[in-house]
Amino acid sequence: MNDCLFCKIIAGEIPSKKVYEDESCYAFYDIDPKAPVHFLVVPKTHISGPDAVEDENAALVGHIYAVIAKVTRELGLSKGYRVVANCGEDGGQTVGHLHFHVLAGRTLAWPPG
Ligand code: 5GP
Ligand code: ZN
Repeated sequence: MNDCLFCKIIAGEIPSKKVYEDESCYAFYDIDPKAPVHFLVVPKTHISGPDAVEDENAALVGHIYAVIAKVTRELGLSKGYRVVANCGEDGGQTVGHLHFHVLAGRTLAWPPG
C-alpha cells in the first residue's frame, strides 16, 4: 500500500492539482487528460479497485457519486459528463487504487473502444 501512487498523491508526497477534498475522498485533475475536463475522484482509504468494493466500504462509493454530482455542478458541466471506473487488465486499470474518472467538455463516444 505504501507504494501506491494515489496514496502518495493523497498524502501530498506527489503533487497534484486539487479539484475537491473532504474527510473521505480526494479529487484531482488527471495528468494525461482524455477530455477537456478530466479529473479523478479517489477514496482516501486504500481500496485496490472496483472489484474490492464490499458492503463494508460501499457507502464510500455512494458518497463519491454525490461528490461528483456536486463538483460537476460547481464546474458548470451542465451538458453532462461520464463517470468511469476501470477494473483489471481488460478494463484498462493501470493504478491499483479505486478511482472514478470524470470526463466532460466534449461529446463522448459510446460504446468505448
Ligand atoms: P486507469 O488507467 O487506472 O483507469 O487510470 C489511471 C489514471 O491515472 C490515468 O488516466 C492516468 O493518466 C492517471 N495518472 C497516472 N499517474 C498520474 C499522476 O502522477 N498524477 C495524476 N494527476 N494522474 C495520474
Ligand atoms: Zn492507494
